[in-house]
Amino acid sequence: MAAKKLFGTSGIRGLIGSEVTCELALNVGKSLAYYLGNEGTVVLGYDTRTTNDMLDQAICAGLLESGVDVIKIGMVPTPLVGYAAEKLDADAGIMLTASHNPSRYNGIKLWNKNGMAYTSSQEAKIEEIYSNKDYISVTWDKVGNLSYNEEIKGQYIDDLVDMVDIKEGLKVVIDCASGAGSEISPLVFRKAGCEVTTLNSQPDGFFPGRNPEPNAENLQTLMKTVVAIGADLGIAHDGDADRMITIDENGNISPFDSLLALISKEFDGDVVTTVDAGLCMDESVKGKVFRTPVGDVNVAEVIIAENAAFGGEPSGTWLHPDFCMCPDGILSGLRMAELVSRKGKLSKLLDEIPSYPNIREKITCSKEAKVEVMENMEELLEAAFDDVSDINAIDGVRLTFDDGSWVLVRPSGTEDYIRITLESRSEDRAEEIRKVCVNIINDNL
Ligand code: MG
Repeated sequence: MAAKKLFGTSGIRGLIGSEVTCELALNVGKSLAYYLGNEGTVVLGYDTRTTNDMLDQAICAGLLESGVDVIKIGMVPTPLVGYAAEKLDADAGIMLTASHNPSRYNGIKLWNKNGMAYTSSQEAKIEEIYSNKDYISVTWDKVGNLSYNEEIKGQYIDDLVDMVDIKEGLKVVIDCASGAGSEISPLVFRKAGCEVTTLNSQPDGFFPGRNPEPNAENLQTLMKTVVAIGADLGIAHDGDADRMITIDENGNISPFDSLLALISKEFDGDVVTTVDAGLCMDESVKGKVFRTPVGDVNVAEVIIAENAAFGGEPSGTWLHPDFCMCPDGILSGLRMAELVSRKGKLSKLLDEIPSYPNIREKITCSKEAKVEVMENMEELLEAAFDDVSDINAIDGVRLTFDDGSWVLVRPSGTEDYIRITLESRSEDRAEEIRKVCVNIINDNL
């Protein structure tokens, strides 16, 4: 398979003007239409970015000109596109979003009719059609139809509420970053019986309240608000609400790995996660733990293949196969609210999850340099340590050591970074592993 240039780990994503343009959207629309046989129906949605109108018009024009009908569902969270593709019996879904990236970025993510993201090989086929300009225009009488569907939002909201049983009056603060969750997420929690306070829940593509990446640095106001109003739980979404992270009742952001392990414990059966997830997963899951390369579609593929009960990445991207194969940050938040309403304080629940010193670090590295830096990484890392017990190179390089510590060095699929993720039984050992890895990367930059 030829190396993909257009698609990263989460669809097409890039800077508006230089990387993501109307021309690109038009031709991706035509390429997808060709892939679908120049017939059928596509569901189209977008987040709150200021550049969505132009991309929406362009990709829609490409689809219509190529004989595919389009159902526009407007500004919606990403999971609603996956859900709608399935419920409206469409042949594919398109979400225009750059997820947690800043306002100047945008992107295109494609979905299958079962709500699962396009796989790497499907993306490669679209890319081949796009690169070879294989796409075609149909004759005037075969041009696609455009329609709008507002009702699907209501159906999605009702179906989500039916998934959980939350004690009436649970106090929740929801921070949507002014992204795609803004309209729907607070509404869902209210309908589910929660007493909701909102932050940054007015749609705004400039993300004026906070950066859409849900990390500790960006969630200071949410943390303070949870404590100030005595809430049981805080929930923060990323820009397109396929992810979420929680804040406990004391205003602390939940450790991503522990949170994933905590919810995984609730499922009877196997759980799928990625190579960057911690040891607590192995110690919490009732069934087997399957590990895949980073990227929600990799998790989705293994969930289906292994008939797993649940799947998730430590980034807060969780897949609920009992609902839809698209990661859903709203359902993830609902399930946490349900857990807290049933079992009590989140801080206590998280305390019960085994945790070890861990480090997540990112080193700035251009797209081109990433390839070079990673070229000999496996050999360099192996040579730098004398107690390596296992090497896994399905995505980046993951070393496991004799004492159970592990480190993963992998290039980010969406940003200009090399990421180091590691976990160890002691702080000193963690720091020692970190230093060696940072030096190897810096020596090769
Ligand atoms: Mg996202």
